This record gives sequence, structure tokens and C-alpha cells, in this order.
Amino acid sequence: MDAEVDVAIVGGGVVGCAVASALSRAGRSVLLLEAAQRLGEGVTSRNSGVIHSGLYYPPGSLKAQACVRGNALLYQWARERGVPHARPGKLVVAPDPASLPDLEALAANARQNGAPRVELVPAAFVRKREPAVPAAAALWCPETGIVDPVDLTRSLAADAAEHGAIILLQARLRAVTLNRPAYDLDTARGPVRAERVVNAAGLHADEVAALAGVERYRVHPWRGDYFRFAPATPFRHLVYPVRRRGAAGLGVHLTLDLAGRCRLGPDVEHVARKDDLSPARGQAARLPRRRPGAARRGARRAARLRRLRHPAQAARPHRRRRQGLRPVRGPSGIRQPGRDRVARAHRCPCARRAGRRTPGVAPPDAKSHPRTHPRRRRRTHA
Ligand SMILES: Cc1cc2nc3c(=O)[nH]c(=O)nc-3n(C[C@H](O)[C@H](O)[C@H](O)COP(=O)(O)OP(=O)(O)OC[C@H]3O[C@@H](n4cnc5c(N)ncnc54)[C@H](O)[C@@H]3O)c2cc1C
Repeated sequence: MDAEVDVAIVGGGVVGCAVASALSRAGRSVLLLEAAQRLGEGVTSRNSGVIHSGLYYPPGSLKAQACVRGNALLYQWARERGVPHARPGKLVVAPDPASLPDLEALAANARQNGAPRVELVPAAFVRKREPAVPAAAALWCPETGIVDPVDLTRSLAADAAEHGAIILLQARLRAVTLNRPAYDLDTARGPVRAERVVNAAGLHADEVAALAGVERYRVHPWRGDYFRFAPATPFRHLVYPVRRRGAAGLGVHLTLDLAGRCRLGPDVEHVARKDDLSPARGQAARLPRRRPGAARRGARRAARLRRLRHPAQAARPHRRRRQGLRPVRGPSGIRQPGRDRVARAHRCPCARRAGRRTPGVAPPDAKSHPRTHPRRRRRTHA
């Protein structure tokens, strides 16, 4: 392939495919480069699949606005495109009276963000819906749901293709040269010339940035494991513990998949390599060496489960199910949902992202990207 396009997007995860959909709808000629054999096999395929509703971000931030708006748009998109999804709702639980102030602060934050239909509910409400979860009170979020993130990604890519985008698999970006006013890209599928390059390479966004001469980013991979419950559990809602003031991340949570199975996770461990999905070694190292085989594995698992500290734990999750790596820009691990970071052009017409967390997987807003100004296509195919 020898192509000339307005925009080359590096990375076929949910972010790259959403950008491809939005830009192709806006009339740009778009080429999406994905290194793997299939779309959505990176971080996108290893997450909780939760459609968030805007509880946590600081009021007025872009993340808060995008999350609340994206919640409604995502349901609409999934409905219209046949993407598997469900709306079981979420309970953010204060397990004891001491955590009620944190719950009230979260409720106030959510209301300021305009999170849809959130409501503080008493212990009796939680008991009725989730009898196995001890709670002093909870925040009920009926608009929080779940989606199949890989199907969502594919639907966005299909939409982009319908609007003229070219999606190339097994097309790793290998080198970038700036030949003003555009970039020459060397890819595993041949050369590409693009006016702009969008870096949506997830965990590898720092390496892609470095190819373009931007050396200042470093992605630190943090691995999380999920645990399945066995046998099947009675939970019907997503259950999150209320975040203690100053704590990092949202805490280990209980989520459902679209088949109704429950899982608990993710826990978090820093790893050195971005492809390290092996069982966590941190806890194993702290166990006495003389415990052999199964006993050692059992003790290790028990130690890890104790550390999860989730209100639903009494129901005994027992099996490590799958892992995911989360890209974080600092070495200190998962941050609190915090201030916005804005992608901006760097040195030339190159927009970049570098391992950023999204406030939620959201499809493009068709209405805000009408295809009213189609630009002349300058694609050539070899
Ligand atoms: C444990 C966990 C739980 C999460 N839970 C949720 C949740 O419940 N709800 C939610 O909304 N979000 C959640 N997230 C966040 C969400 O999963 C991510 O924000 C999102 O998937 C990131 O997508 P991405 O497209 O940026 O990255 P990726 O999906 O990783 O895509 C990047 C792509 O770039 C490709 N690539 C890399 N280098 C190159 C190259 N040189 N050339 C070409 N292609 C390249 C990779 O192969 C990959 O396919 C969670 C994340 C984690 C880790």
C-alpha cells in the first residue's frame, strides 16, 4: 500500500477507531494503522467494560462533561448499531457509618457533574437489591451499564470504513519522518504520507511518540487481575466501594459481563514489561519458600484476595480469570480521576495522545460531526 491521506491514526483500539469514525464523518481522508491481526486486542479487550456515568471527575472538567454526555451517546450508539450492552446500574457502597462522609461528598460531586439520576439510598435499599453486600448506605446510579468493548470498537471501525476510512491490520508503524508539510510513515504494509498523525497506540503511545521525535513520555504499565466468582453468584448490579478520601483509583469493583457472570477486580501491580500478563509475582515472593505446589498457590491466591478488600468478598471469588495492563504516565500507579489533559499539536501538524486514560468509551456524536465539508480525497493505492 502506498497512500496519501489527511490523517493517519496509529492504533486500532477503541480510541483510534472512535477518532477514525469521527474524522471520516467530518469528511477527512483517514487511514488507521493497527499492528495486530485484529482490532481492539490491546487495553480495549482487557477492561471492565463499564459505561461510566460521571461520578468521579472534578466538576467543570472536560472529563466530567465527556463522561456524562458520552454515557447517553454510548447507549444510543449501542442500540442503533446492535452492540451488546446492558444497564444493570451501579451501587457505590459505604460499608460502615465512618465512610458516609465520603459517600455524601461523592454524591455532591456527581450531582454537580450532572450525572444522570444518581440518588443516595439507605441500607435497606441495598439489602433488597444485593442482600450479600453489607452497607450503611449507597449511591445508586441506574445509568451505569456495561458494553462489549471489542464489539464497540469494531462498530466504530465499521462506521469509519462506511465513511471512506481505510483500516489496515498488521500495519505496525515503524518510522516517522517529517517532510514538511506532512509526515512520511514507514509501516509494515508500505509507505504512507499523512498531513496529520494521531497517536492512539495505548500502552505503546510513548514508543510511537518517540518515533516522531517526542521523547518526553514514558508509559508505566500497571497490571490488574480479575477474579471470577464460583459457583455463579447472586449479584445483579455493579458494586463499587466508596473511594476513601485521597485513595488512588476507584478501588476494586464487582462487575458483570454480558452473560451475567460476576468478576471482582482489578487489583494493581507495577510490572516492568508491557507484555507481562503472567500471574502476579509480588505476593508470591513474600510467601515462605517451603510451601510447595498447590498449597503455595492456594496461599498466594488467598493473600491476594484478602488484599482486594471488597464488600462482596464474602461470596468467595476463587479463580484468577484474566489480566489487563493499564498505561499510566507517572511511575506512581493509578491516579485519582483528575484534571484534564488536552492533546495538542506538537511541532507540526501532529496530534498526540500518550497513554491517557479515557473517562469512558464513547462513540462520536454524529450530530456534532456532520459530513458537511467533504474534502478532496488524495488517496492512492498501489
Ligand atoms: C483494568 C482496566 C479496566 C478498565 N475499565 C474500564 C471501564 O470499565 N470502562 C471504560 O470506559 N474504560 C475502562 N478502562 C479504560 C479503557 O480500557 C482504555 O481507556 C481504552 O481501552 C484505551 O484504548 P486505546 O485505544 O487508547 O488503547 P488500546 O486498546 O491499547 O489500543 C492501542 C492499539 O495500538 C496498537 N499499536 C501499538 N503500537 C502500534 C504501532 N507502532 N503501530 C500500529 N499500531 C500500534 C496496539 O496493537 C493496540 O491495538 C479500563 C482499563 C483497564 C486497564
